[in-house]
This record gives sequence, structure tokens and C-alpha cells, in this order.
Amino acid sequence: MADTVQTAQTIYDVAIVGGGPGGYTAAFRAAQYGLKVALIEKTDKLGGTCLHVGCVPTKALLFNAEIWDHVQHGAEFGISLGDGAAPTPTLNWGAVQQRKNGIVVKHTKGLDFLVKKNKVTRIQGYARLTGPAVDGIHTVDLTGPNGEASQIKAKNVILATGSEARMLPGLTPDDRILTNIEILALEQVPKSLIIVGAGAVGSEFASMFRTFGAEITVLEFLPRIMALEDEDISKELTRLFKKRGIDVNTGAKVEKIEKTETGVKVSYTDANGKPQAKEAEKVLVAVGRAPRTTELGLEKTKTELDRGFVKVDEAQQTAEPGVFAIGDIVAGLPQLAHVGMMSGMVAAAKIAGKKYRPVRRDRVPACTFTEPQIGSVGLTEAQAKAAGHEVKIGKFPFAGNSKATVLGSHDGFVKVVADVKFGEILGVHILGPGATDIIAEAVAVLELEGTVEEMMFTIHAHPTLSESLLDAYGAVEGMAINA
Ligand SMILES: Cc1cc2nc3c(=O)[nH]c(=O)nc-3n(C[C@H](O)[C@H](O)[C@H](O)COP(=O)(O)OP(=O)(O)OC[C@H]3O[C@@H](n4cnc5c(N)ncnc54)[C@H](O)[C@@H]3O)c2cc1C
Repeated sequence: MADTVQTAQTIYDVAIVGGGPGGYTAAFRAAQYGLKVALIEKTDKLGGTCLHVGCVPTKALLFNAEIWDHVQHGAEFGISLGDGAAPTPTLNWGAVQQRKNGIVVKHTKGLDFLVKKNKVTRIQGYARLTGPAVDGIHTVDLTGPNGEASQIKAKNVILATGSEARMLPGLTPDDRILTNIEILALEQVPKSLIIVGAGAVGSEFASMFRTFGAEITVLEFLPRIMALEDEDISKELTRLFKKRGIDVNTGAKVEKIEKTETGVKVSYTDANGKPQAKEAEKVLVAVGRAPRTTELGLEKTKTELDRGFVKVDEAQQTAEPGVFAIGDIVAGLPQLAHVGMMSGMVAAAKIAGKKYRPVRRDRVPACTFTEPQIGSVGLTEAQAKAAGHEVKIGKFPFAGNSKATVLGSHDGFVKVVADVKFGEILGVHILGPGATDIIAEAVAVLELEGTVEEMMFTIHAHPTLSESLLDAYGAVEGMAINA
């Protein structure tokens, strides 16, 4: 059951429940601080949603989609695949899936290695809290893979149990009604796909399967897709999605999903209140993720919940002394792998008595790997105004960036939201090539409370996509060079 020998008397400094990005990061960091760590994971694999059915496999498939797109437009780059005037590239979906699975396996093995390297005790089992600590020691109930019961003891517990896809009432996922889990294992590209929900997960799958040739219908209940992003991003992505032939419907309330002889039928009320129906081969339900907090023994502790999410302080501590929560189960933080990882590092530092900086909601980058990509951090224009800032905006289109021309990827823009008074940069919102990578600069700028003036005199290498940021800072003062 455990990788490292443990005895009934072993008392860990920290027991971590859940081996996803939050849990394994907390475990490795705690071990680096010299703490005695147990990492409890109910499955036989570390990595959680992110590695197995989230970030990593989706990005692997999206990279294949990007290559497929380049191959199909090869002629533009002077590349033809074979003889004749109309070469026909073919997509080997089995090989695409195999590559994705190989990447997941490689990184799962990497985590196994890191557990050993950091001398973390790994335990396979389902964990539940038994109540408050007694004399400073928590007891955690464990149910092993074959139902065997045991307990472990620890001075601190970090909960990192993650989340799972919410389903619409009355539905269970199968080979036609899909969540992120089933869609990632499809044996072929569906001819048509309805996607309910256009947040990051829904939008990425829409973009990916459109590139692979599926007919895509997006049904979003809110007035815009990618509703957490700056409004300009939603507007432009909608235009670009439509240009790619994606049928985007906002203000659409899904009423019913039923199976037909060959596929599915989704009935919904459109933005004008009219009943509509659409049929497709499959439907993906991407309407958010529910925290896994119901079967954890939390009711036996002082831990407080907000709509199922665990409330924590700046050090990720719950209201129950010695119990911490990190990652997707935490109230008030976005459900992103890097939030899980950083909140894990904060909890580990607090337990070890080391310095830490709290996770700040307005310092979290959000990256969506659609075509084109989105990378954003900080306040949107509307949020900055609502928070009482007098704002100035700089916007620079990728059309003026020479590296974007080299890549043949001109869609999108960089938008900078700055405070008028001192020129402090409050938010950066990118739609365009490389957005998920170049946003890193903006994250550092916000973390260091940089100003427009400072960034206008920060050298950006040429020709790079990052230069679009330099032009966008300049645009705040009406002084972009390349527009
Ligand atoms: C399709 C998709 C794409 C995504 N893409 C991105 C992306 O590109 N970038 C990004 O930042 N985020 C992305 N995310 C979000 C990301 O996957 C999550 O934010 C991240 O996995 C959360 O990490 P976690 O450690 O909190 O939980 P999880 O990764 O969910 O891990 C929790 C672990 O706890 C285990 N567990 C649960 N209960 C118990 C228990 N009682 N005892 C023992 N073990 C237990 C589970 O088996 C699981 O392994 C994506 C999500 C999806 C669904």
C-alpha cells in the first residue's frame, strides 16, 4: 500500500490528501523543507485531473491540431505533401491519441521518480478526516484499493482532492454525452459536436475539433463566451470562431439533452426566448467543475464551506487548526493547475514555518489554448472601473508585429489596462499567437507593480511576439511604434 515503510507509530509532519498538481507540489515542497510527508492518492497514478484528463492531454491534442492546420495550409509556406496539384494530407487519429497517451505516461513516471527523489511516503487509498486533532495530532481514515481499512497520523493535513465535471441534471456521461474524460478518449473525430458551455474547457474543445474537421455548435448560457475574460477578448474570439465556421450561440439555455437513433438532440431556448433544437453525433457538457468535498469527513471538523468549496485564509488554512486546503476545492480562487501548485507551496511554507506570499486572485494568469490563444492577468477594463480606478487603455493589434507575420498569424491584439494616476499596470489581456507564453512577462510586471513608463523603456527583443507588449504599453500613451 505504501512505497516507503511506515509503522503504526509513524507521525508525519504533514499528510496530503490528493495527488494532483496541488497535492504533489505541496508534497515535494514540504519534503524540500525537511518535513516528513505522506502523499495519499486514491488511484494508482499521481497527476490528478491535470495530467490525466485535463491540461496535459488537451494541450497535446491542441498541438496536433495546430500542426494539422499548418499541414493543410502548407502551400502558403511553400510546402507540398506529395505529387500533384492537390496533395491530400491525412489524419491518423489513432497515432494522434497514441502520442497524447505517451506524453501522459511519461509525466506520470516523472512524478513517480520525484516521489522517490524527495523521499515522500506515497500511500494508495481513499482518505477521510476523523475530526479535530487530539494533542496536536490528526488521525486520517484510509480505505485501501482492496477495501482494507487503516489510519495514519499527522501533525497537519493538506486537502487537495480536486474537482470533477458537473453534469446537467438527470444525465450520466457515456459514449455520446461526454465530459472531459470521455471526449479525450474518442476513437475517432466526430462529424458533429455540440458543446454546452464556452468557458476555457468548452472553448478549447470547440477550437480543437473544428480544426480536426468536426461541425461545431457552441451553446453558452451567458451573454458571451469566455465570460471571465475582458469583454474585448470574448467579442473578438467570437468573431474569429464564427469565421472558422463554429456556430456560436450565447444566451442559450439548454433545456433537454436526449439521445436519437444516431446521436443526440439538444433542445434549448435561444437569446430571444425562442425554443430551438440541434442534433449532432455527440454532445460535450462543459458547464463547470464541482469540488470533491462531500466524502471527506469535513462535517466532523470546524472547516467551513461556501457552496461546497473550502474557505481558507491567506496561508491556505481552514477554520480547523492544522487542516489546510489547496487547489480546485478552495473557495474564491480560479480552478487552475498553477493555482493548485502555488497554493500547495504556500501551505507547505506555512507548515514549515518559512516565508511565503499569499496567492492573489488578481495575480493569477489565465491561459486558454484556443486558436488564437488567450493569455490574461489582472483586472479587466470593466473590473478596474468597478474597483474605482480611472483607467487608460492601450491596444495593439498583432497585425503590426513582424514575428506574427513570420508565423502567418495576425489575428488578435494585446490590451493593457493601466491606472491613470501613476500609470500602474492593472491588467494585460492577450488574444493572439503565443499568448499563453508571452503573458508571463505581464504576470511579473503586475507582481512587481510595474508602470507603463517603466515598461515603455524595457527592451524587448526583435523580432518576437513579446514586442507586441512593448507596443501595447506604448499604445496606452498613444505611442505604439508599429501601429
Ligand atoms: C479539460 C481540462 C483542461 C484543463 N486545462 C488546464 C490548463 O491548461 N491549465 C490549467 O492551469 N488548468 C487546466 N485545467 C484545470 C486543472 O486540471 C485543475 O485546476 C487541476 O487539476 C487541479 O488540481 P488539484 O490538485 O486541485 O486537483 P486534481 O487534479 O483534481 O487532483 C485531485 C486528486 O485527488 C485524488 N483524490 C480525490 N479525493 C481523494 C481522497 N478522498 N483520498 C485520496 N485521494 C483523493 C483524485 O484521485 C485526484 O488524483 C483543466 C481542466 C480540465 C478538465
